[in-house]
Amino acid sequence: MQKRALVVGLGIAGMSAAIGLRRAGWTPVIIERAAERRTGGYFIFLFPEGRQAAADLGIADHLHTRNPAWKKGGNTWALDRRGNPKPELGFLDQPGPAAVLRGDIEAALWRSITHDGVADPVEVRFATTPIEIVQSADGVQVLLESAGSGAQYRETFDLVVGADGLRSTVRRMVFGPDEDYLTDWNAMVCAFQLKEHVPSFAPTDTVVVPRAKRAAWVFGFADHAPTTLLTYRTDDIQKQFSGSRIEQLRSVYSGMDDPVVRHVLDSLEDAPDVLFDSVHQVQMSRWSSGRVVLLGDAAWCLTTYSGMGASASLCGGAALGKAVQEHPEDLDDALNAWETGLRPFITEQQRTAKIKQQRFVPSSKAAAALRAFILGVARRIIHRRLVAESSGHPAPAVSGTAR
Ligand SMILES: Cc1cc2nc3c(=O)[nH]c(=O)nc-3n(C[C@H](O)[C@H](O)[C@H](O)COP(=O)(O)OP(=O)(O)OC[C@H]3O[C@@H](n4cnc5c(N)ncnc54)[C@H](O)[C@@H]3O)c2cc1C
Repeated sequence: MQKRALVVGLGIAGMSAAIGLRRAGWTPVIIERAAERRTGGYFIFLFPEGRQAAADLGIADHLHTRNPAWKKGGNTWALDRRGNPKPELGFLDQPGPAAVLRGDIEAALWRSITHDGVADPVEVRFATTPIEIVQSADGVQVLLESAGSGAQYRETFDLVVGADGLRSTVRRMVFGPDEDYLTDWNAMVCAFQLKEHVPSFAPTDTVVVPRAKRAAWVFGFADHAPTTLLTYRTDDIQKQFSGSRIEQLRSVYSGMDDPVVRHVLDSLEDAPDVLFDSVHQVQMSRWSSGRVVLLGDAAWCLTTYSGMGASASLCGGAALGKAVQEHPEDLDDALNAWETGLRPFITEQQRTAKIKQQRFVPSSKAAAALRAFILGVARRIIHRRLVAESSGHPAPAVSGTAR
């Protein structure tokens, strides 16, 4: 008899786990709280680890990436205090990351779940949530509720995978309340797609206004309208969710009267799909308990600043499939091996996210100045190499400081 797994959450982590488990010979069933696919999302990096996991899951050929072609001088600009653009080192100037929309990864995973000619499609039940999870030696009994009809029913599985995001219901039911695991970063993010780029910038340009404690980003793609990220630091998270979102953001960004912030705030007024949330990292000493395992943001949310959330979810799902395949008779051994293999990578990403946060939104004026200095030096070195590579001549040695 094939083993059955209940995967809670049709996000990147949930679909990756389902594909990994199916490749290991299991029968996964995915439940999703939303009534339909959540195809939305904004700029996301896909790192080599994530690309490798996508290849392992067999979805790499359907993964659309959108890196703009590199041009002399780069594609990334930082606005100075007078609102003048200065070239800055872009994330995509360094080897490794690919620019994708979250929806690009979602679409590639969904295709595999529903169109994989080799294996059976994965069963997906929308508008369905877990209400109760009870473990015994033989399996996990889950009480499920269908939002449409209100019907409740019980089913037994060999494994439950909680891939239900930052505020995971599975984690709450099996491991304990959010407060035990969510660390506060005293920061907010607001992301959405723009219809048009900031006037006077090329569609492929990325522009940042990196001030102390508040920053605005517009990310350009090769073949898609840009997306934006407003991110700021605050000691009063609760206040950010009270009242009108647009008024709150206008008040936070008051005094930043540059073309980027103006354009982004004006565009927010009629943006149809906006992510607005506080920033938390999930810290857990163990990701599984018996036959219940957490994956993705539910287990280790790295924060937007890490840029590794999607890659880590793909890795986690692919690795889970491999672990159960290599330990077919013993789920404990499989989950131990899975966590032992993945934990050092996740710990490293969690550790470096705090440093990366300074690049997204500096914590003070001094941090903003240091950020500009370091990126300036790095840009000179890296852009010189890129120019040399594109002209076929080796880069000369670099001396001196940033302009
Ligand atoms: C619509 C959307 C847009 C996003 N956009 C961005 C972005 O632009 N940039 C970025 O860095 N990150 C974004 N993220 C987060 C990013 O996708 C994740 O950090 C990363 O991919 C890890 O994903 P995950 O699958 O662990 O969690 P998530 O992407 O949060 O997926 C969790 C899924 O579980 C479902 N779910 C939650 N609770 C239940 C429940 N009780 N029962 C059943 N299902 C449940 C949710 O509806 C969701 O589909 C977005 C997430 C979503 C859902």
